[in-house]
Amino acid sequence: MIKFLDIQKITESFEPELSVAINRVVKRGWFLLGEEVSAFEKEYSDYIGTKHCIGVANGLDALRLILRAWIELGIMKEGDEVIVPANTFIASILAITDNRLKPVLVDPDVNTYNLDISLIEQHITPRTRAIMVVHLYGKACWTSQLEEIAIKYNLKIIEDNAQATGAQIQSEVPQTTHSTKHPSPATPKEKANTFFRTGSFGHAAGHSFYPGKNLGALGDGGAVTTDNDDLAKVIRAIANYGYSKKYICDYQGLNSRLDEIQAAVLRVKLPRLDTDNQRRREIANYYLENIEHPNIILPSMEGSKPKPPCTSVKSKDIITSQYPTLPLRLDHVWHLFVVRTNKREKLKQYLSDKGIQTLIHYPVPPHKQKAYNKWFQKKFPVTEKIHNQVLSLPISPLLEKNSIVKILCLINSF
Ligand SMILES: *Cc1c(COP(=O)(O)O)cnc(C)c1O
Repeated sequence: MIKFLDIQKITESFEPELSVAINRVVKRGWFLLGEEVSAFEKEYSDYIGTKHCIGVANGLDALRLILRAWIELGIMKEGDEVIVPANTFIASILAITDNRLKPVLVDPDVNTYNLDISLIEQHITPRTRAIMVVHLYGKACWTSQLEEIAIKYNLKIIEDNAQATGAQIQSEVPQTTHSTKHPSPATPKEKANTFFRTGSFGHAAGHSFYPGKNLGALGDGGAVTTDNDDLAKVIRAIANYGYSKKYICDYQGLNSRLDEIQAAVLRVKLPRLDTDNQRRREIANYYLENIEHPNIILPSMEGSKPKPPCTSVKSKDIITSQYPTLPLRLDHVWHLFVVRTNKREKLKQYLSDKGIQTLIHYPVPPHKQKAYNKWFQKKFPVTEKIHNQVLSLPISPLLEKNSIVKILCLINSF
């Protein structure tokens, strides 16, 4: 049986360092707001490329806290609108409605699965305050057009980076954040060669360390990254009962903290993240090059070379070269490898019968959920099409070569 994601195997591959780190915390006997969290916040903000990182309890809270802090800072208020992709994971939407803000759902681009940036402007009203971009399935959602819209309408950009930890975009210094810490490179050529991580582009970003994410803890965990000093300060306070200092309560806060054990675990796992993401890319490139089926649509890799005509699996040397044969796409960390097919249930059952576990991300879009039944009548044709057709294939950094070949052969003979 090939599991969708073998978390047990991934966890074991970090031993004995993981147990050493956990025992260090247990022996120290200090479990919250201690040196592991401080050290992880420093390491993670260095990795992402932001001035601040605040460890919080989970990814949903990271997003909730950013919006809540903007409300406390007077930047938005109850009833204001936040533009968000209609096909996102429900937590993006929950973070908005929990703050009594109004999500304005916008259909995605069917090829990238990400927010269709060309549709944003027609949804902007006098009450629009922010755009939430979701780097869905691990693919960065960012263009200069998006930045121009944010500047033109004075909107905040919040990144939901839960699925894209480690993704990079080649870009000039992001305009929206007016960051001082990324020195502007001297020449246009140097500029074009500068890479930035998702999570450092918008005004603030929410990160998730849910065990199944690319950087997973051994339980819940999350973080906010931002360059903004005021925002960071308010979030840190709200996440800790609203304290500005111990027992001095400035906000009606909550308790949302990353704990010391999870921080210690993440410190062990972070140094291998780029290697793991590269392995995901190699597997994705292999799927992209070799899956050939008239009923299956592969995730688009705009800019990549056209697929070669039908290739024989047996004769192909599978992932022996150190470098992927398709162009390296650093803007994608392949949290999920999502194909589309109008024979989804059949394909899922067929793969399951042959011992391959697949999942659906996601079977029901937010506007068809009971929790949001006032949106039932709304129409999001691209979102609905995606939700009816998507299937996620196994893609784990530790997926073995023979498993990948088996999956591919089975799919091609479906
Ligand atoms: C996982 C996820 C979240 C929520 O993160 P949790 O840590 O599970 O709360 C938010 N948005 C997206 C897109 C996610 O995939």
